[in-house]
Amino acid sequence: MSELHKFLFDGMPVRGMIVRLTDAWQEILARRAANTTTGAYPPPVAELLGEMTAAATLMQSNIKFNGSLILQIFGDGPVKVAVAEVKPDLSLRATATVVGELPADARLPDMVNVNNKGRCAITLEPKGRVPGQQPYQGVVPLFGDEGEKLGKLSEVLQHYMLQSEQLDTTLVLAADDKVAAGLLIQRLPVKGEGNLEGTAGGDRNPANEDEIGLNEDYNRISILASTLTRDELLTLDVETILRRLFWEEKLLRFEPQKGMLGPHFACTCGRERVAQMIRGLGVEEAESILAERGDIEVGCDFCGKQYRFDAVDAAQIFRPPGDQLPPSPTVQ
Ligand SMILES: [Zn+2]
Repeated sequence: MSELHKFLFDGMPVRGMIVRLTDAWQEILARRAANTTTGAYPPPVAELLGEMTAAATLMQSNIKFNGSLILQIFGDGPVKVAVAEVKPDLSLRATATVVGELPADARLPDMVNVNNKGRCAITLEPKGRVPGQQPYQGVVPLFGDEGEKLGKLSEVLQHYMLQSEQLDTTLVLAADDKVAAGLLIQRLPVKGEGNLEGTAGGDRNPANEDEIGLNEDYNRISILASTLTRDELLTLDVETILRRLFWEEKLLRFEPQKGMLGPHFACTCGRERVAQMIRGLGVEEAESILAERGDIEVGCDFCGKQYRFDAVDAAQIFRPPGDQLPPSPTVQ
């Protein structure tokens, strides 16, 4: 089961979080793999998208904001766009668009930053946004201070967090075909709430900027956190990770968030929604697609799930209300 663990370092201005996405992450991969148009993600893309999904979950959990956090990469390579969205209830979904081939050992720059034109955007979309209200968006490049291409998503996001929140942050991210996981360590603001919401209101705190890189407790804990390997993050349970890294520190733990209270997959798509869309096309258009292709196939843009309607299903859509066949057992 996917889980999120939050903790504080007792008496020190440092907090931490670990996320481990298992069922939620496997659902994202399974929907894509079952899509006959796209097929499964190539392994390097799955790894990137998994890291993005873990990072977006950590970032959403780290802010007080009533709305969706959307982490996007707009690539200039074979991966055109990759998106992970996490809502305040930790429901999440993710998708990526890949065009053309990419090497089996492709790294971040090979996928999204071939010409140093790739960008990473973090959007905060307020819940129930009224027309005219702008979502908050921060955009960072995929290169460092010297223009060098960054090799890891964690480096890109650490840069973003430092810029937007003026808080030192350490991120370790990893994903494979079973698990997407992340560790976040962050220095707490000197005073007030240094979070993304505060930044959206233009609330910079000079005292926080003065502290960047200087807090000894944070620096020590950050170095410990950075020793966590990809393999450990993917294979060890949270208790073991925390014991191995921080056995000399006193941690204050919060109740882990699991199940529906923890990170879980959710997409707003569904068979009935797609049926409505086909109804919107009209019976003639639907019949012409059926004549040409045999069935109507619609893939969800947000999760990749593919919905297929054959001639019988389509006829059912256009049947007048009150004259419906009982649902066939193969539908869903
Ligand atoms: Zn969907």
